[in-house]
Amino acid sequence: MTIRIATIVGARPQFIKAGALSRQLGMTDGIEEIIIHTGQHFDDNMSAIFFKELGIPTPAYNLDIHGGGHGEMTGRMLEKIEQILLKEQPDMLLIYGDTNSTLAGALAASKMHIPVAHVEAGLRSFNRKMPEELNRIVADHMSDLLFCSTSTSIENLKNEGITSGVCQVGDVMYDATLHIKSQAMANSTILEQLKITEHGYNVCTLHRAENTDSPELLKELIEFLEAQSQAAPTVFPVHPRTRAALNRDGLVPKNLMLIDPVGYLDLNRLLAGASAVFTDSGGLQKEAYFHRVPCVTLRSETEWVETIEAGWNRLWKGPDFVTPKPDISEYGTGNASKLILEEIQSFLTA
Ligand code: UDP
Repeated sequence: MTIRIATIVGARPQFIKAGALSRQLGMTDGIEEIIIHTGQHFDDNMSAIFFKELGIPTPAYNLDIHGGGHGEMTGRMLEKIEQILLKEQPDMLLIYGDTNSTLAGALAASKMHIPVAHVEAGLRSFNRKMPEELNRIVADHMSDLLFCSTSTSIENLKNEGITSGVCQVGDVMYDATLHIKSQAMANSTILEQLKITEHGYNVCTLHRAENTDSPELLKELIEFLEAQSQAAPTVFPVHPRTRAALNRDGLVPKNLMLIDPVGYLDLNRLLAGASAVFTDSGGLQKEAYFHRVPCVTLRSETEWVETIEAGWNRLWKGPDFVTPKPDISEYGTGNASKLILEEIQSFLTA
């Protein structure tokens, strides 16, 4: 009997997480994966490059849905995903993270009584102004299997009354980093292209709506980054939303090397040689740790509290780094996707 798993992806971090698990699914007999790309991210350097570099199979469906308000985008996705699930009748729907695609997938499948598995469940910022926080909460409450990276996530779910189907498996992004790192070191030429040298630069990413929507906050952040970049330049692959916000406000940052978003190979090569990382990205905070580079988080809270506790990360307006910097065992050993697949198989064959 073949197990048919539908996977929803739509945004850059989901391609990276799904890449790790897709590889595992593809290597396993008796599993068919049906990838549904909602189209939330669609530029080549925000989408296609990740499929190519991570060897993710071409999606069976591309809904080409992007832009518009949250409600409009989620509603259009919901309608289309429901039609596909009706046609495909998968045994399970796999969702990742906290985007509108995650939310639409969770709602569509759970209403059709298709079991939902949520990878990166239980994350909480406790800031309900973030669209991601609302998406996560709903997705978790709709899910039958909840794959958590850390014990903090397990605790967060417990506090909301969710204890069934919860598994701590480590972090799939660690799997992804281990997979790409040696290829990045061997094949990426980004340092040469940018004329920068090992440990002679920092890396920054910034894209959260809470930072880009406010001209005052964006200006303050750019000034902070400029001050941090006096000794060494900061390479800043600019997310399309941030590019639009910088243009909107006429901001021309100094000492920051603004470049287009890069692929996963180049991003990992940049991280491997960086002196520091500045970011508001959830993924980058962990990836900085995976490369053992100190990270400053450009937000007023983080879901990845263990990176702060271990001293690898700090909030830009929060207390300084703490020492020593121990390893964080909770992110696992790089076998999160294998553990997830085993749980899915035992759930569906029970
Ligand atoms: N990333 C990338 N190229 C870039 C910027 C980010 O490959 O130019 C990767 C990065 O490795 C990270 C992922 O994109 O894992 C995170 O995506 P994003 O910051 O958009 O989302 P978040 O992690 O905040 O959900």
